[in-house]
Amino acid sequence: MKVYKFGGASVKDVEGLKRVADILSSTKGDVIVVVSAMGKTTNALEKLVPKLSVVEMEKLIGEIEEYHLALARAVKLPHWHSVNVELERDFRELRVFVQEFNSENYDERYDHIVSMGEVMSTHIVSGYLKGEGINNEWIDARNVIMTDDTHRDAKVDFEKTEKQVKSQIVKSIKQNRIVVTQGFIGKSDKQHPVTLGREGSDYTAAIIAYCTDAESVTIWKDVPGVLNADPKKFADTVKLDHISYQDAIELAYYGASVIHPKTIKPLQNKNIPLFVKSFTDPTAAGTCIDTDSSPLSVPCYISKTNQVLLSLSPKDFSFIAEENLSLIFDCFAKHKVKVNMMQHSAINFSVCIDNDERFVGVVGVDPRVNPIGATRDLLGSTHGSTPTGTTALLDELRTNYRVLYNDNVELFTIRYYDQPTIDKLTKDRNILLEQRSRYTVQMVLK
Ligand code: ASP
Ligand code: MG
Repeated sequence: MKVYKFGGASVKDVEGLKRVADILSSTKGDVIVVVSAMGKTTNALEKLVPKLSVVEMEKLIGEIEEYHLALARAVKLPHWHSVNVELERDFRELRVFVQEFNSENYDERYDHIVSMGEVMSTHIVSGYLKGEGINNEWIDARNVIMTDDTHRDAKVDFEKTEKQVKSQIVKSIKQNRIVVTQGFIGKSDKQHPVTLGREGSDYTAAIIAYCTDAESVTIWKDVPGVLNADPKKFADTVKLDHISYQDAIELAYYGASVIHPKTIKPLQNKNIPLFVKSFTDPTAAGTCIDTDSSPLSVPCYISKTNQVLLSLSPKDFSFIAEENLSLIFDCFAKHKVKVNMMQHSAINFSVCIDNDERFVGVVGVDPRVNPIGATRDLLGSTHGSTPTGTTALLDELRTNYRVLYNDNVELFTIRYYDQPTIDKLTKDRNILLEQRSRYTVQMVLK
């Protein structure tokens, strides 16, 4: 049994759907097909999460609806009627969530709304494949991927999930050869829809592969494989033919967007190879990620933009080490703010984090320079409502620490670094923080 994952770009238009059908017709054996939301649908759905006026809301839903219906019409589904019934139901459900699901919990509302993108896309993909003579069964991942209730970053309960995978997916595949299901979404122990984190469809493919002891996972992409840098940001990239699980997990963790960071663990645990291949050139080798631990032959570099560099110093001038560090970490964990890089000195703790869309820093009027060059003093949050995430974290930290920050910085990670690559990436830039280990250098640049 193989697991194939098709991302949003692979199913965004008629050509994409045709390629999915071609790839499946030329694959022998059983295939579990994991599909993302079409094109930029997830981004479009995210816009519906904040409260909007009825007019704005209808406009946005109307655009998403028109995009899906136009695509379904364009592929001329022979049994258009049944797909249309499903899509009508999906959009009815979406409207109910947007209009009526007013949870106090922003993330819970987010998951109800945003999870619908995958449901719609798989209804079209499954219907299209049937029309092309590719028999398959549509399975609702919200009844298969079982998680806790950490909305937007749900933790998978592998034991419960494995039971569902066996009773639904494995059972169906014996009869139908192909199953189509959604990436990225699942169901919480409170029976609510959840998501696994942005770009989480890769992770779904790995979870299902783990639970079925699949022979391999293939992620079909609009790039020839895993490259040593993001081709959208750098011109001179090279494709990597092979990557070890260890390098892959490090690169994904540092932000290489080609694979979701949680994807590697389930595959490594069962020694299942992961292929990243081009859906426009399906017979090309792509990249293979497996247990072979040979190091990479070229430097790989990853940029994370829209970062905030925070600098914390205890107001009472006590050392950062010892109990301050554990207090700080508890605080980060409690508010679910992920640390991308950190460093400490006697009385300073510097940490680089993603900028949160809900974090509003207040620019200080008195720019002072501290060890990381932060010139903005965090005076307080400007949030009217209850602060969450980064804002809540900072509100709490400010009780005992002076908090300075630099926003809009870039975090660069180079694995298997060399000096020419460092020089190239740091040219005309100001390095605020730098850390080197044997294989990796990380730098925060302004
Ligand atoms: N549709 C989701 C996203 O765009 C999940 C995925 O594409 O993997 O984040
Ligand atoms: Mg996507």
